[in-house]
Amino acid sequence: MGTLIFDILTLFPGLLDSPLNESIIRRAREDNKIRIDITDIRNFALDKHATTDDRPFGGGEGMVMKPEPLTAALHAVQEKNGAGRVILLSPQGRAYTQKVAEELSSLSHLILVCGRYEGVDERFVTASVDDAISVGDYILTGGELAAMIIIDSVTRLLPGVLGCSESATRDTFSRDLLKHPQYTRPRVFAGQEIPEVLLSGNHEAIEQYRFLESVRRTLERRPELCKRADFSKSEKKLLKEHGLYQKIEALPTGPE
Ligand code: SAM
Repeated sequence: MGTLIFDILTLFPGLLDSPLNESIIRRAREDNKIRIDITDIRNFALDKHATTDDRPFGGGEGMVMKPEPLTAALHAVQEKNGAGRVILLSPQGRAYTQKVAEELSSLSHLILVCGRYEGVDERFVTASVDDAISVGDYILTGGELAAMIIIDSVTRLLPGVLGCSESATRDTFSRDLLKHPQYTRPRVFAGQEIPEVLLSGNHEAIEQYRFLESVRRTLERRPELCKRADFSKSEKKLLKEHGLYQKIEALPTGPE
């Protein structure tokens, strides 16, 4: 597996420095699992005032990012690192999920374009963008935080990035289920004991308890996930024994 290159096109490179230089991302960069190249779109402005945005045609509030500096910045990174997949961060894009993170983690070069102000000129989108991604149904001030969400969630899926290879496959969403509750020392905290089974040393019983808690929690908090989760034959049997499969079957179908 080669190095996954993240190119980020932004008007605010300073925003990205520190979060991408800590902890797991920092280690992944040092180990050449990923490379992050940040390009300041302003360096590709055409005039001496380094203008990167202008008023919208037709009037209205705010400013729109001009297509020429964006295009020139994109061509510069593509010349250096290759075509890549050009992803615009946009609240109008497809919804970002763990499945999309998995899809992106199999690619070798992602170019993340961060919008600002009222967004980018549509002609840049039509001519140059392969994919638009939204990190949620809310409006951020700019695409930088969204780009960081993508880099963080994709990087932790790359082989050898996490210390314990198990943890990514058992995370919430890795199989349409929320993760079971977790406990660490002390055994009693604020009058609350940890579940007895976790001290039993019986791995099968622990696995079973965790699986059932995971399903219970998902049913309660995100039933729509439970509905599409894929259970094995033995899991279905266990769920039936605890009355949970019946609850999943009784969930309404239809748009999520
Ligand atoms: N006026 C735009 C609209 O209504 O669609 C929103 C512009 S927003 C203030 C500025 C930039 O932040 C966007 O161009 C995009 O790059 C980024 N952004 C905002 N919300 C986002 C979200 N939920 N997901 C991804 N990027 C987002």
